[in-house]
Amino acid sequence: MKLILLGAPGAGKGTVAKMLTELDGSVQISTGDILRGAVKAGTDLGKEAKGYMDAGDLVPDALIMGIMGERLLEKDCEKGFLLDGFPRTIPQAEELKVLLEKIGVTLDMAVSLDVPRDVILDRLTTRRTCENSDCQAIYNTKSNPTKVEGICDKCGSKTIQRDDETEEAISNRLETYQEKTAPLVGFYEGEGMLLSVNATSSDAVVKAIQDGLAK
Ligand code: ADP
Ligand code: ZN
Repeated sequence: MKLILLGAPGAGKGTVAKMLTELDGSVQISTGDILRGAVKAGTDLGKEAKGYMDAGDLVPDALIMGIMGERLLEKDCEKGFLLDGFPRTIPQAEELKVLLEKIGVTLDMAVSLDVPRDVILDRLTTRRTCENSDCQAIYNTKSNPTKVEGICDKCGSKTIQRDDETEEAISNRLETYQEKTAPLVGFYEGEGMLLSVNATSSDAVVKAIQDGLAK
């Protein structure tokens, strides 16, 4: 499957993407994960991106398009891909459209994960992520805690709260989302490829996507 996952921070894009990869071997492409990997590795890209990320601001479109232009050409994308956190602005969506036409790839759908704001806020402040960049398992201190506090069930590394998960950065991320990313729902509706789903449960989202693809 070739999907775009849209939704506010904390809507569950990453969780849903991971569940979908297990269905058919499509790869999850998370621009957030790619950027965090670059920051950790201390590359030029990482150095440029870090300030924006820690503040909860978007990284410039040109940087993201450079990353994604290359990533979508990699061999593992042939089986399918789940775009998680990209596109994030109207210019990114427009450039993606041109890029996909150029490489002859057609998307199945853009899925909008809809979650009430109070649920989002609660999820973001209680979220913990495995710090091992090869694992990046996601937990929640309330709804999905690790068996041993602070230790990843899957790989034994530490689970941490991301730098951009302070209250101030979270509120900035939500504001940025409303202003820059929420308009993409209308964009993909206009393209005739939008599926909106109530995303309070990730299992229900996966089911709705499977139903949508079968149509
Ligand atoms: P979130 O949980 O807020 O959706 P992500 O892990 O997707 O977070 O992204 C973390 C940060 O990386 C964002 O706040 C932003 O600074 C940057 N980022 C990720 N994807 C993009 C993108 N497509 N365009 C611009 N910035 C991005
Ligand atoms: Zn782990």
